Amino acid sequence: MTNKQTLLRNLPKVDKVIDLLNEKEFFKDKPYKEVYDAVNEGINFFRKGILEEVITQYSIEDIENEITKSLTKNLEFNFKRVINGTGTILHTNLGRALFSKELIEHLQNSLCGYSNLEFDLKTGERGSRYSHVEDLIAKVTGAEAALVVNNNAAAVMLCLNEFSKNTEVIISRGELVEVGGSFRIPDIMELSSAKLVEVGTTNRTHLADYQKAINENTSMLLKVHTSNYHISGFTKSVSNKEIAELAKEHRIISMEDLGSGVLIDFSKYGQKKEPTIFESLNSGIDLITFSGDKLLGGPQCGVIIGKRELISKLKKNQFLRAFRVCKMTISALEFTFKQYVDEKVAIEKNPTLNRILEPISEVFKRAEILKNLLKDIEIDSEIIETKAIIGGGSMPDATIDSYGVAITSLDGKQVETAFLKEDTPIVGRVQNNQFFIDLKTIHSDEYSIIIKNFKKFLERV
Ligand SMILES: *Cc1c(COP(=O)(O)O)cnc(C)c1O
Repeated sequence: MTNKQTLLRNLPKVDKVIDLLNEKEFFKDKPYKEVYDAVNEGINFFRKGILEEVITQYSIEDIENEITKSLTKNLEFNFKRVINGTGTILHTNLGRALFSKELIEHLQNSLCGYSNLEFDLKTGERGSRYSHVEDLIAKVTGAEAALVVNNNAAAVMLCLNEFSKNTEVIISRGELVEVGGSFRIPDIMELSSAKLVEVGTTNRTHLADYQKAINENTSMLLKVHTSNYHISGFTKSVSNKEIAELAKEHRIISMEDLGSGVLIDFSKYGQKKEPTIFESLNSGIDLITFSGDKLLGGPQCGVIIGKRELISKLKKNQFLRAFRVCKMTISALEFTFKQYVDEKVAIEKNPTLNRILEPISEVFKRAEILKNLLKDIEIDSEIIETKAIIGGGSMPDATIDSYGVAITSLDGKQVETAFLKEDTPIVGRVQNNQFFIDLKTIHSDEYSIIIKNFKKFLERV
């Protein structure tokens, strides 16, 4: 018999290994199904290795170690914290807006027990889940009324279905956007049974283009914030005010999909200006929709604000039941908007606004701290000026001056690959084959995790 056959034959049986491991402290309290799977994976690992002749000897301890590794991996959560070293503040792939510790504390208080989600404490009768945030959103934004659904895509869909089912919606060709996660205005139109009428050209649309397209079948003029690209040069678009007036003249609805809902005039704080919710409302637009987890800095949801009469109609649409938000969203959104009652509080406490508006000197300090911590473990790095990106459907050219740390003494690609596999992965950039971490999106409680990952990397190479 060849050595290969002997090795295969001597591989222990699954049941035997389970009996053996059940005696051990680490395996005792683990779910049987997980242990069973891990044992199978462990033994299969060796079977495959022997067949491919990469394993030519093993001990029972080797097998046990492999099983322990498998079990540890299988018991981990899939959804977990990731360190964002990319410098993109609202990163759709990394979870967009962050929750503050205070918000989590509030959620703990409001969600661990029963709640008045749909219970009116004044009358003791059935209430509406939307009532918890409706007046607050109206107060903060200055709108007549408000409604909340699962995300902004649902908000747009609900409005189109309610007001433009089987009728025509006019939109500029320059605003037929696709945003991340395959939100395409033409597709949403089709799903909502609204008929899309495109006017103008990609770079230029005039008021007369809208005027000419209006007929007795038209129900809405729609503006969409071109949130992820920017057309420059020979361009012309029609202002909200002109759109609102034209719609009024023809007794049809004007609506704007703002994408990212901004309540703070960033230019007051030395950053580039984003169109605000107030400006959109003041222009006379009837309905505005925006995301909860972009620049607002709250939970994932879609907020619809505007004329009371229109919002009341939306509340009766059957799609609302399918788009309804959960209690966690209601609670988190109320918390988020309450901070906006005083702009100063929002800027101080909301993690998204915090990051956007903090002075650059703070970012530089963090870069220096990280560089020094790296030096302590004998890793060389350089502080580099960079541009952080706001992201999440804000203006595509909205960048913020920032600082990053480039690792000069390690292979960038190797670091990148290794860091994705860590317990707390770090997502950075690789430029000139150097791993690069932008400090804009790093929090001061994350240094220890970063350093731990680098230490582990050094041990391996
Ligand atoms: C982001 C965005 C959406 C989609 O919002 P979600 O909350 O992700 O559904 C729609 N329209 C515009 C203009 C956007 O920027």
